[in-house]
Amino acid sequence: MKLLLHVCCAPCSTVAVERLVEAGHSVTLFFFNPNIFPAEELEHRIAEARALAAKFGVELVAGPEERSRWRRAVEPLAARGERSIRCNVCFAVRLDAAAREARLRRCDAFTTTLSTAPMKDSKTIFRIGRMLGRKHGVAFLEEDFKKRDGLHRSSVLCRKHGLYRQDYCGCEWSLAERREARGVRREEG
Ligand code: SF4
Repeated sequence: MKLLLHVCCAPCSTVAVERLVEAGHSVTLFFFNPNIFPAEELEHRIAEARALAAKFGVELVAGPEERSRWRRAVEPLAARGERSIRCNVCFAVRLDAAAREARLRRCDAFTTTLSTAPMKDSKTIFRIGRMLGRKHGVAFLEEDFKKRDGLHRSSVLCRKHGLYRQDYCGCEWSLAERREARGVRREEG
């Protein structure tokens, strides 16, 4: 199958790319994450995703920046926190671009590495992916990469390839939330 794989970051992509390539799919990686803050972090994550693509011998396409469009959609929900509707809207902005790209490239289907992350609900991602697939006329492949010990496998592959593993999801609010949680833990300790 000719497949467009939306990649959120290199660590989550490791197991996804390995499985899809092993399954015989022709995979193009699509990096589109206008949520990532600050700009240096975005550059770092793109560079890591490019390094991963090179290791697997697959193409990586970087999508347009579109930060202001993402911000307009997500900022009104900023205070809702991680794993809330804020994240669902963030997924939708990214998967909308992925579905559009898949359609332009005449792919058979598209999917996303977002399902690798333990903090992200795969059923919600699938529901959004299906909806955007219908909108753009391309199938969404429902692959839950955290299943079948996917998290462990991604850790192994990150170590093997020396990949950078960030400790927050991506947006400025998730960075602040992570810093706050760390501060609270230090005070408790
Ligand atoms: S926490 Fe992650 S998924 Fe949620 S809005 Fe921020 S970047 Fe997007």
